[in-house]
Amino acid sequence: MTSLHRTRRSTVRAALVAAGIDALLVTDLINVRYLTGFTGSNAALLLVAADDEEPEQAHGHTDRTTDEPDPRTRFCTDGRYTLQSQEQVPDLPRLIARPCDVALLRAAPAGSVGFEARSLPVAAYDTLQAIARERTRPVSLRTTLDVVEDARAVKDRTEIEALERACAVADRALADLIGAGGIRPGRTERAVGLELDQRMRELGAEDPAFETIVAAGANSAVPHHRPTAAVLAAGDFVKLDFGATVDGYHSDMTRTFVLGEPAGWQREIYDLVHAAQAAGRQACVVGATGDAIDAASRDLIAAAGYGPQFAHGLGHGVGLQIHEAPSLARGSASIMAPDMCVTVEPGVYLPGRGGVRIEDSGVIRPDGYHVLTQTSKDLGVL
Ligand code: ZN
Ligand code: ZN
Repeated sequence: MTSLHRTRRSTVRAALVAAGIDALLVTDLINVRYLTGFTGSNAALLLVAADDEEPEQAHGHTDRTTDEPDPRTRFCTDGRYTLQSQEQVPDLPRLIARPCDVALLRAAPAGSVGFEARSLPVAAYDTLQAIARERTRPVSLRTTLDVVEDARAVKDRTEIEALERACAVADRALADLIGAGGIRPGRTERAVGLELDQRMRELGAEDPAFETIVAAGANSAVPHHRPTAAVLAAGDFVKLDFGATVDGYHSDMTRTFVLGEPAGWQREIYDLVHAAQAAGRQACVVGATGDAIDAASRDLIAAAGYGPQFAHGLGHGVGLQIHEAPSLARGSASIMAPDMCVTVEPGVYLPGRGGVRIEDSGVIRPDGYHVLTQTSKDLGVL
């Protein structure tokens, strides 16, 4: 696995060189995981732009407990994670210190050191500025945004395989739940959600990818409804939005069912959202902007008179986080590239009556969007 992380570090190094930054202080834990494989709760990475890594050599013997100057790419964690980090990050010099951002900045090479503005608290920034000023070899702190996040938007093979497994767990859990008659009048939203979560765990999910949404009847008109003691009733829409986390990767899928025979209005908005979701998937081509893909789906809904009832973006990247780059939404300048993994999830919500959302997770390939969530999108009548 370490060569994989090294390849990722190379990609980010190229971005640092392009931005004229000598080193990046990575403090976002998800980004640290992406670049090193470390899964603990406290760590940081100083990534030097010039490739200073030795070929295929373990550095376990270079552990230090002080932060003496050693301006190299280095991983830092605290004493709770000495053993875990030796296993997970055998290929980088390691610093055991606390706080890691301070220790790594003290040891950083002279020049410009980028920090991750989205994840660094203001108090930590103030401390780092004080350290930068007191250093004898000058460092200037540089604001960066999304350097690692942009690299993460394009998935490598290992990541896509993890997402495939996460989507397969969600598909299977839903099929089993339906097969066991788990979505039926008389059950509460909460009971359905708990059973779905339990089934995902039994099928190998580390966790649900986020708090499972089960929304019945009028609640289905609330895009992010939390499951309650509300009881499912005949004639209801039941909307389930859920996913599994596998190897740290998150799947995301929404399906909407009807309990019994659908009424005319239910069929109408279901068919509309179904068509809009297909249009969104077809627009997910390499080179398209997030704005254009959103419009391809949204325009269909607006033309049918339901524009105001679709009040959220069309989709988002999925990966180590449930919501990450790129964004498929109005005004999004994100440009689709091969191996980006994104959701496509239009919806129409009629307050007081009910709503429909249909969502897939999938991969953008040179020949179009490949759906990873395989559950049928035909109107499911339970
Ligand atoms: Zn979702
Ligand atoms: Zn989503």
